[in-house]
Amino acid sequence: MADDASTNPGLLRTQAYINGNWVDAVSGETFNVDNPANGDLIAELAYCGTDETTAAIEAAEAAQPAWAAKTPKERAKYLRDLFNIMMENQQELARILTLEQGKPLAEAMGEIAYGANYIEWFSEEAKRIYGEVLTQPTGEKRVMTIRQPVGVAALITPWNFPNAMLTRKIAPALAAGCTVVCKPASETPLSALAIAELCDRVGIPPGVVNIVVGNTREIGAELTSNPIVKKLSFTGSTGIGKMLTEQCASTLKRLSMELGGNAPFIIFEDADLDLAVKGVMASKFRNAGQTCVCTNRIMVHESVKDAFVEKLLVATNALRVGNGLDDGVDLGPLVSAKAKKTVDEFVDDAVAKGAKVHEGPATPNGACYSKPLVLTEATRDMRVFSEEIFGPVAPVFTFKTDEEAIQMANDTEFGLASYFYSKDVSRCWKVAEALEYGMVGINEGIISNEMAPFGGVKESGQGREGSHHGLDDYLEIKSLTFGAI
Ligand code: NAP
Repeated sequence: MADDASTNPGLLRTQAYINGNWVDAVSGETFNVDNPANGDLIAELAYCGTDETTAAIEAAEAAQPAWAAKTPKERAKYLRDLFNIMMENQQELARILTLEQGKPLAEAMGEIAYGANYIEWFSEEAKRIYGEVLTQPTGEKRVMTIRQPVGVAALITPWNFPNAMLTRKIAPALAAGCTVVCKPASETPLSALAIAELCDRVGIPPGVVNIVVGNTREIGAELTSNPIVKKLSFTGSTGIGKMLTEQCASTLKRLSMELGGNAPFIIFEDADLDLAVKGVMASKFRNAGQTCVCTNRIMVHESVKDAFVEKLLVATNALRVGNGLDDGVDLGPLVSAKAKKTVDEFVDDAVAKGAKVHEGPATPNGACYSKPLVLTEATRDMRVFSEEIFGPVAPVFTFKTDEEAIQMANDTEFGLASYFYSKDVSRCWKVAEALEYGMVGINEGIISNEMAPFGGVKESGQGREGSHHGLDDYLEIKSLTFGAI
């Protein structure tokens, strides 16, 4: 593919996208992006740093007034065109995504549609940025509010959803009238650059969308310290999120933080066990367990544990693990050999503390492949209870009472996604209200779509993406007080 790129780049772009131009790093340096399924080189990319990031920020600043001055309907049209062209190129985008990230092609196709849905949604929401007329404080005054774009926004995204994590930020930012400088993950930058190529093709004006990749520290330092940048929206680990929050303090930027999770999946004694297994399979093993909303801790009422585990093992052993480009594969490799090593360490820790490992399906030997595993006899002193696994390992804990289940579920500094299964409406309300999480799946294992607000509480972050609330993160409220009425 690297050879193709030099003659006919198509959607596979290898340079930074700044002010509507494709540019090399000032230093001429490059870095490699490899395929986790086999270690093959996919492409060599421009290794950008401070200078290119400053240029991108200045381009975004110059473009912002004209972009904000466009009517909502005009901005909506650009976004609608972007949605259309993304769906027209769904297959090529999905192939690039699978090559750099590893997830099965069918899942990658799903991610492109999921990511494009945010663009479609915010193309519609762009026309619904309303102000208010408020109650008057005295007879001679009238107070109104208008909502205006925050300005230049920096967007930093992870490797697990290289397309959708970015569209979920670009779409509301552009709808609101902001311009953006994006820094995708170094392991999966090609999907982001492909989005820039599509922005270019639909005529989004130069400087409105800019993308830089390369020296992570330098790019991050510039994005978080440059006073032109008014907002940072970050998706990634809680540790890096906290560090970037500190870096933003000196210029007091607006922040949106979509951070790590530690999702409980509670199965009460009245749950439909087949439905619950279906939910676990979707929320645990999608993307080989590498999603922030992945089930991390399965908690089953002790009276149904054996029946549930039996069904879970049947479903887990039926998974097919392999190269994401091959037909019928359910799980691809993890994103890197380092990621696999981390998952192995979680399993070793659990086994040393008494967990029982159930043999999973056949798995290729490559450095990045991690075998889907169910662990029973899991206990709260194991790392799998308190840390994000980010791999296809499913630990099963047990509980005796609703109170114990809720206490266990909330016993974490994270608060992103949670799930529970029960047929009792009264219990459903009480448990949903008691869970300290930004999102709760009730008899449902897939909870993310463009119409539902996505985000966490506690150390899982702040702000919401998607839904009509997703625009709020990119808008300032201004109050207008009219006197002498
Ligand atoms: P990560 O290490 O925090 O990286 C995320 C992004 O931050 C990458 O683009 C990374 O760049 C960048 N980054 C790292 N150090 C930086 C620095 N000093 N300055 C600026 N940027 C920096 O997280 P990850 O391992 O890629 O992603 C997995 C994490 O993301 C998990 O914790 C998961 O739960 C979380 N996540 C959360 C959500 C959500 O919506 N809440 C969604 C998806 C994932 P490089 O790639 O260049 O290092």
